[in-house]
Amino acid sequence: MYRITSQRKYIVEAIKSLGHSTINEIADELDENGVSMALSTIYRSLESLEKQNIVRKVATKYGQDFYEMFDQPRHDHFVCSRCHKILDIPKENAEFEVKIIDGNLIRSSETLYYGLCKDCFKHH
Ligand SMILES: [Zn+2]
Ligand SMILES: [Zn+2]
Repeated sequence: MYRITSQRKYIVEAIKSLGHSTINEIADELDENGVSMALSTIYRSLESLEKQNIVRKVATKYGQDFYEMFDQPRHDHFVCSRCHKILDIPKENAEFEVKIIDGNLIRSSETLYYGLCKDCFKHH
């Protein structure tokens, strides 16, 4: 197993309590918990947590990256095009079937939906 440094442990705790979170939200959460870290440190830690499949990054077309815990049931994401909030969308099929398309081995799939969230839809 990988050794998780205490810095990374704090970051993991922040993501667990925030759910989907941007690097700035993680930094704010760490500040509130009295463990301030430079954004560059957080960024580097997130990169290695991602490589270790502890954290997953969800990139949206708005140039905002969200981080969430890797170890959770498969789900897709929805991003609101107005307020840029990100939400989990349950998968229609809980199991992914590994398949071969054009000779390529497909192991997973992720869908990112765009539109208006409940709140923005009400007020649009
Ligand atoms: Zn919205
Ligand atoms: Zn999610």
